[in-house]
Amino acid sequence: MTIRLVLLGRQGSGKGTQGARLAVHYGIAHISTGDMLRSAIKNATPVGKAVKEIIDNGGLVNDELMGSLVQGRLGEPDARTHGYLLDGFPRTLPQAIALDDIARARPINVVVDLEVPRELVIERLTARRAAEQRADDAPEAVERRLALYEEQTAPLIAHYRKQGVLAVVDGVGSPEDVFARMVSAIVNATGITAPGGDGRTSR
Ligand code: ADP
Repeated sequence: MTIRLVLLGRQGSGKGTQGARLAVHYGIAHISTGDMLRSAIKNATPVGKAVKEIIDNGGLVNDELMGSLVQGRLGEPDARTHGYLLDGFPRTLPQAIALDDIARARPINVVVDLEVPRELVIERLTARRAAEQRADDAPEAVERRLALYEEQTAPLIAHYRKQGVLAVVDGVGSPEDVFARMVSAIVNATGITAPGGDGRTSR
């Protein structure tokens, strides 16, 4: 079984949590560009040094750098063989167009848009700030990230709807309920069930 998924959703929509669970469920690589960048920062790599300030301020890293990072990662054997779940990329229309190109030989099966209202994600991010102390969860940075989402990322929903690969999932509810909704939306959209699974449960 191979499956290639993209997750879209506001900051704080639960993409990271659900992405990790879905990746385990399907036995595929969870590729989070935010995690890749934070690990580059932690290891003080050239990429990490170049992006630290942008990320702390809630800005977006430039499309060329992101495109080459993702292209490199999707070319690795695990992603090529089993597929992947992409979380945090694409975030802009140029990134989506770059991904269309990168994925031409092995197309994306489904793009899941995890819908959570703005007021609720602000609450969740405020709680996460207390727990994880991420600089980009400071109120001004959150405002900026959410504004960039509406401006740059929300238009991707139409891009993928046009391609016929979009599935919209309500992200309000317990993590278990949301997970179950995502799995059934993925089955409906692709016909693909997890290895040995019935498409509804994995735990
Ligand atoms: P969130 O979705 O909550 O913003 P992420 O962990 O996905 O958290 O990303 C953290 C930060 O990393 C973003 O605010 C941005 O600065 C940077 N980043 C991650 N992915 C991308 C991308 N595809 N394009 C540009 N910047 C990115």
